[in-house]
Amino acid sequence: MPEKTSSIEFAEDSQIWVLAERTGKQWDTITLELLQDAQVLAKKTGWKTLAIVFGKSEMISDQDCHQLAANGADKVLVLQHAEFGKPGSMMGYSQVLLDSMNGQSPRLLLCPSTPLWVEFACRLIGAWDGVIARDAISFKLTPDNKLEVIQSIWQNKGQMTISMSDDHPWCVCLKPGVAGLGKTKPQAKAQILRQDVSKKQTETVQTVELLPPNPSELDLVEAERIVAGGRGIQGVEGFKALEELAFLLEAAVGASRVAVDLGWVPYVRQVGQTGKIVKPRLYIAAGIAGASQHVDGMRDSEVIIAINTDKNANIFKIAHLGIVGDADTIIRGLIAELEAGGT
Ligand code: FAD
Repeated sequence: MPEKTSSIEFAEDSQIWVLAERTGKQWDTITLELLQDAQVLAKKTGWKTLAIVFGKSEMISDQDCHQLAANGADKVLVLQHAEFGKPGSMMGYSQVLLDSMNGQSPRLLLCPSTPLWVEFACRLIGAWDGVIARDAISFKLTPDNKLEVIQSIWQNKGQMTISMSDDHPWCVCLKPGVAGLGKTKPQAKAQILRQDVSKKQTETVQTVELLPPNPSELDLVEAERIVAGGRGIQGVEGFKALEELAFLLEAAVGASRVAVDLGWVPYVRQVGQTGKIVKPRLYIAAGIAGASQHVDGMRDSEVIIAINTDKNANIFKIAHLGIVGDADTIIRGLIAELEAGGT
């Protein structure tokens, strides 16, 4: 565990710290959502927004940092080390941040509500004697200086409002894909601070092995990509192929209610009115008709690809790309293509 700092001081000029994360060459959407939310609060309070990035120096250019400014960051702190950026190696990051900030804490720390970042945030908040809300969907400052946070509960079927008093640092972990993106200021420039991190600081935790995610266990609500199947998948064997495709795309497996009722996949995989409401970047609907109850759960997906033998299937009305054909043949074709190194 990170050491508990003996005296907590809020950073000079109350600050909002935002954990910025990227996949490949792009900032994750949740990073931009967090910054835009931070900016709304900063405008009301006059607080400053600091984006914190853990990365290899060559992977985070000044231009990348200015993109964070376009979304609301006043300053960007890049904590640099060759080991940063490897998935799964972030558990030691909390101590690195505590060391870099000399015991100071923000008024508010904003993180994505994903398992690794929540763990990271819990370690910091423990050291700062702060309070934390995870699975948050929004937050606001009340006139008496409390932070009111709306949390999603019961797997998104309910909401709870909590109130955080102003005598502790706050941490809010926001669910990805809920806030959405607003306008940016493309000309904005961030003040960039770069700090090299010593090897000793990063050694707290070492990654021994990285296991690829199991598509049957990935949480549908948090997944960036979903490959979902319906009756047209025609059975458990068909779902095995679907799972293989999901594995290659690092996607979660989803299903229509019919596929669940037929016992091909467990209920936890059901998307729709009486299942999970999802909003991934990519949703592949294979052998799913597109009944309104299913569509209610996935219509906000960024890109929808539908595969169906019936060219008049409802799902094609909301799909960005439609493929008329046998789902099994197309899925196996995609698997072969991806295994051969296609993208
Ligand atoms: P079907 O309607 O049978 O459609 C199968 C599709 O597969 C067809 O379009 C067909 O052309 C296509 N197909 C067949 N063979 C192939 C092939 N070889 N290759 C490609 N395509 C093929 N449904 C949900 O999904 N989620 C919910 O949360 C949900 N909640 C509900 C709540 C209520 C109160 C009610 C009344 C219903 C709910 N339903 C829900 C059920 C919903 O109305 C539909 O019955 C269900 O979504 C249909 O599932 P499906 O598309 O897999 O099956």
